[in-house]
Amino acid sequence: MKLDTSPIAAIATAPGRGGIGVVRASGKALAPLIDTLFPGARLAPRHATYLPFKNGDGTIIDQGIAIYFKGPHSYTGEDVLELQGHGGPVVLQLLLARVLEAGADAGLRLAEPGEFTRRAYLNDKLDLAQAEAVADLIDASTEAAARSATQSLSGEFSRTVNKLVEQTIGLRMLVEATLDFPEEEIDFLEKSDARGQLAVIIDSLEAVFQKAAQGALLREGLNVVLVGQPNVGKSSLLNALAGADVAIVTPIAGTTRDKVSETIQIEGIPLNIIDTAGIRVINEAVDVVERIGIERTWAEVGKADVIMHLLDAGHGPSRADDSIVAAFPEGIPVIRIWNKIDLSGHRPSVDPQSDATNVYLSAHEHTGIDLLRAELLRIAGWQQTGESLFLARERHLIALRAARRHLHVAAEHAAQNDQSLDLFAEELRLAQAQLSSISGEFSSDDLLGVIFSRFCIGK
Ligand code: GDP
Repeated sequence: MKLDTSPIAAIATAPGRGGIGVVRASGKALAPLIDTLFPGARLAPRHATYLPFKNGDGTIIDQGIAIYFKGPHSYTGEDVLELQGHGGPVVLQLLLARVLEAGADAGLRLAEPGEFTRRAYLNDKLDLAQAEAVADLIDASTEAAARSATQSLSGEFSRTVNKLVEQTIGLRMLVEATLDFPEEEIDFLEKSDARGQLAVIIDSLEAVFQKAAQGALLREGLNVVLVGQPNVGKSSLLNALAGADVAIVTPIAGTTRDKVSETIQIEGIPLNIIDTAGIRVINEAVDVVERIGIERTWAEVGKADVIMHLLDAGHGPSRADDSIVAAFPEGIPVIRIWNKIDLSGHRPSVDPQSDATNVYLSAHEHTGIDLLRAELLRIAGWQQTGESLFLARERHLIALRAARRHLHVAAEHAAQNDQSLDLFAEELRLAQAQLSSISGEFSSDDLLGVIFSRFCIGK
């Protein structure tokens, strides 16, 4: 991503048709652009003005609303101009082209993905965790995920982490002041209750980590592979699992004809279900094209968090089932689901075995479905706390884990009373750096590039 500060513009609304569409521009000084686009008009900051949007030759592209946000009171912290016209792809392209032309002399160019938000970050309108929450809110696939993203966007996550940073800095200052007076080092730990303070920080960090780890589940969800022979009840099971929560179902045609992925949710956790209807084990009878399809399917299985293997409770495993089970990648938990217990006479139940957990249910009669849901949530590591969560990313969890490690090492030094106060101080410094990386203090350009390039254009 370019780091230049020339003015930028992009279509800010999603591609496609809509009631309205927005072209947005941001730059240090947009007054000349506004003069060129709307000669003679005066756009009062933050007021909606109804205007014709005209080409350079005076022909009208659209009629709409122009809103001027004078920096720093804008999303990016710079001057921002928003043109709200009709939401058609062609009319918005024409409007964008006109804006780019009108701003050409000032160096106006098309925005890169995430560049508006990146500027908001660089101008201190948002910290990094909040900027990430913008993208997470847009991408949220369940209501719970959206709620947690809003929580992070509001700065709640950043404030909690910053509080940890401040506590760590407080303790560091105490320690480093003592380092200058070596004779005092020995009773420092006793007198200052440094151990007690450290224990408090470790406890708070643990609480933040738990909320963030649960929030990460809402973001990432669980990758579930569903395997089973034809007619064993896979579609029925998916419908039963989705139940009343089937608010958001996204069928995505798979790369192979018989691989379909869809997302359902259980308590707000997205379950990305890969239905491998055609899964088979490769043998000599398989031709090249089919082989590629099968290999892809197995690659998906390898990435799964859990395998659901559906069987008929009345019949037991077939030979095809046996060969598939033998090919399951190691280390991925398996739930062996015995369906159609209404016919076989089993009772709904859960029976954990060393190789897999057996669940007996009837997809058709909806008996035992709650047992399967509970088992999936258990594997996901979900603990319903009723507290609001932070929609954390893997990056945040890594930083929190690293900080926790440094604090524990610091605690070991303190416990040994081995006069290694400088080592104690160093671990505190490292923990602080990890925590600070969450809000983006001291973040490298590389990291920023990675984060913002995943945004959509116009955001
Ligand atoms: P799939 O091919 O694995 O997706 O299987 P379907 O979900 O299409 O189900 C195949 C047939 O089994 C359908 O006629 C379902 O109504 C029936 N079926 C599914 N689950 C049950 C069940 O729990 N009990 C009974 N009796 N029939 C079921």
